[in-house]
Amino acid sequence: MHGVRPDELLALDARHVWHPYGAMPGKVAPLLVTEAAGVRLTLADGRELVDGMSSWWAAIHGYRHPVLDAALTEQAGRMSHVMFGGLTHEPAIRLARELVDLTPDGLEHVFLCDSGSVSIEVAVKMCLQYWHSLGRRGKRKLLTWRGGYHGDTFHPMSVCDPDGGMHALWRGTLPEQVFLPAPPAGFDAPVEQAYLDELAAAVERHADELAAVIVEPVVQGAGGMRFHNPGYLRALREITEAAGVLLIFDEIATGFGRTGALFAAGHAGVTPDVLCLGKALTGGYLTMAAALCTPRVADGISQGEVPVLAHGPTFMGNPLASSVALASIGLLRDRDWAADVRRIEAALIGGLGGAATVDGVRDVRVLGAIGVLQLDHPVDMAAATKAATDCGVWLRPFRDLVYAMPPYVCEDADVAAIANAMLAVAAQA
Ligand code: PLP
Repeated sequence: MHGVRPDELLALDARHVWHPYGAMPGKVAPLLVTEAAGVRLTLADGRELVDGMSSWWAAIHGYRHPVLDAALTEQAGRMSHVMFGGLTHEPAIRLARELVDLTPDGLEHVFLCDSGSVSIEVAVKMCLQYWHSLGRRGKRKLLTWRGGYHGDTFHPMSVCDPDGGMHALWRGTLPEQVFLPAPPAGFDAPVEQAYLDELAAAVERHADELAAVIVEPVVQGAGGMRFHNPGYLRALREITEAAGVLLIFDEIATGFGRTGALFAAGHAGVTPDVLCLGKALTGGYLTMAAALCTPRVADGISQGEVPVLAHGPTFMGNPLASSVALASIGLLRDRDWAADVRRIEAALIGGLGGAATVDGVRDVRVLGAIGVLQLDHPVDMAAATKAATDCGVWLRPFRDLVYAMPPYVCEDADVAAIANAMLAVAAQA
């Protein structure tokens, strides 16, 4: 369709393309992107925007990174995809080994799948099948805390925030789970004993029906951009261990350095039974996710009457995605990512610090390469997009939250532009 004018493309988009959480036919015209390089998106009308969203937490190295481009083209010249049942290949094997090396000690086995939501489905299956194999068939539920987000397929939706979240629509059709309040807010806020007691009592009370507890460690992302003290995770590890319940950490958003630790579990120094990764796994180049588990979980499953993990989608361990993930991990190793994240954190604190006294701003929080302004009122999306793009920045606020998670390769001036745009959105809300 070369030669089709941007306005014609957008008309076709509105008619045929169903966007995430979009109406059909499309009501709000998306921005037409023609190129992306470094930390900038180029629009069809020639404007350039700094991507304050890293493509929904994924593009940590920015776009068109020469190392990632080369890994992809080199692999494309060899093998783009093969089925993973009965066949295997070096990129997936090397990636699995890298992930085992990088993630908390004790996670040994890696299921490579194609999206974050599916990795949650796989994690849940691992836990349910573990208990099924051990003859504990009543242990089928999950416990989670409110305010979470784990994806848009049915098991993940069942553990998303049941009230304020996006999935209230599905109430009644989802597997029934156990919810507790979210931990008290604040990465540096002291751990509250009363909350720990409530957590321990609930896990114990439901232990006979619980397969696992599932949480987003340290940062609850799309459910509300809330931070909590890693001490709650240490306690959760002890509580689940004592009650005979498995523990799943969803690090799809927090993995690969975003919170200042390579994995958020590292802030607490604990290993979950199952760990889910996605988003930044391939540096945002291709859709790939992973569920890692301990030998205990795998051994339990192999003792069952169905001694294999009952999951096998078409697109597992894709060689292109595996190669680009290996290259992305190589970049993290080569480029002192922690220094980059600390630099971005300092720039976000500098840029947003004054916002606490701005009218309409209820809270300002920064952790690692994540900056959040919580407002008194929900934003109007069209006005917010205009305010941010007028500042040369791409942001995608939701509800009363204006937030950014910049690519780690952002210069200080880019982060300053992002902070400035967040303030502009807050000012017009
Ligand atoms: N879990 C968390 C914490 C997420 O932030 C997301 C996506 O935003 C998901 C799961 C779902 O991942 P995906 O969108 O790749 O299905």
